[in-house]
Amino acid sequence: MSDLPERISLREVGPRDGLQNEEPVATDGKVALIDSLSRTGVGRIEAVSYVHPRAIPQMADADEVWARIERAAGVRYSALAPNLRGVQRALDAGFDEIEVVVSASDTHNRRNVNRSTEESLDDIAQIVELAHARGATVQAIVATAWGCPYEGDVPLERVLRVAGAALAHGADALSYGDTTGMATPTRVSELVGETRMRHPDVPLNLHFHNTRGTGLANVLAALQLGVADFDASVGGLGGCPYAPGASGNVATEELVHMVEDMGVATGVDLPALLDTAAQAERLVGHTLPSQVLRAGPRTRTAD
Ligand code: ZN
Repeated sequence: MSDLPERISLREVGPRDGLQNEEPVATDGKVALIDSLSRTGVGRIEAVSYVHPRAIPQMADADEVWARIERAAGVRYSALAPNLRGVQRALDAGFDEIEVVVSASDTHNRRNVNRSTEESLDDIAQIVELAHARGATVQAIVATAWGCPYEGDVPLERVLRVAGAALAHGADALSYGDTTGMATPTRVSELVGETRMRHPDVPLNLHFHNTRGTGLANVLAALQLGVADFDASVGGLGGCPYAPGASGNVATEELVHMVEDMGVATGVDLPALLDTAAQAERLVGHTLPSQVLRAGPRTRTAD
């Protein structure tokens, strides 16, 4: 297979995106999960989000989690925030990598943060100014980039316009979120291709949910276009708030297992990650969707 990146960077989002979509778990368990992840070799961990505890009670202990984890050398930790207030809290807690999320779909943005996409975009300029003044970087995550549970397909031009506006407001990096797993490889290629043409130098991360089983196929399509930065969650932790019982993010160990065999380095120790996936499963108290967790690596032999 031609032209795959030699190495990719993974951001583990299980502790945030994953646990946000599970029944609340104890702070101790979250801290232990992040500490285990920190020892797997994964380069980045999205540790918490600063959202209103009434909106997302699963993240009410964000400050405590962040204070108690053992921050490993060589791991970058980030926090997600939906608005200026949340960004302020993340900066006060000492985060220097902030993710701010805005939905390409106006309906989704209103349901999520009670404001229009335009209003959220306007906030980004202020958020960036505040973050930069405190030495932090801002990644703009464009959610519902491949479709919205309320509006259906979101036009490509609209996604590109929202991304362009976030960058024009000073965001340092861009991420596209397939919030409810509506992307397919063709759609990934289209959006990545157009984005690369318009913003060739902007760091681009992709965030896929495996809601409809297309997660790894989407990763492969993006790899073939040279994208080298992906989100994934250990065990496939999480779910979809709009589809009860659906799968969560692409499972980190499935991604690592596939791409490492294709010659793409991740820096992640697969056995350590599988142990952590089992830990995540015990933490939430139910089976997680990861198939590599069930079956083991492809080289595992029968006893
Ligand atoms: Zn997500």
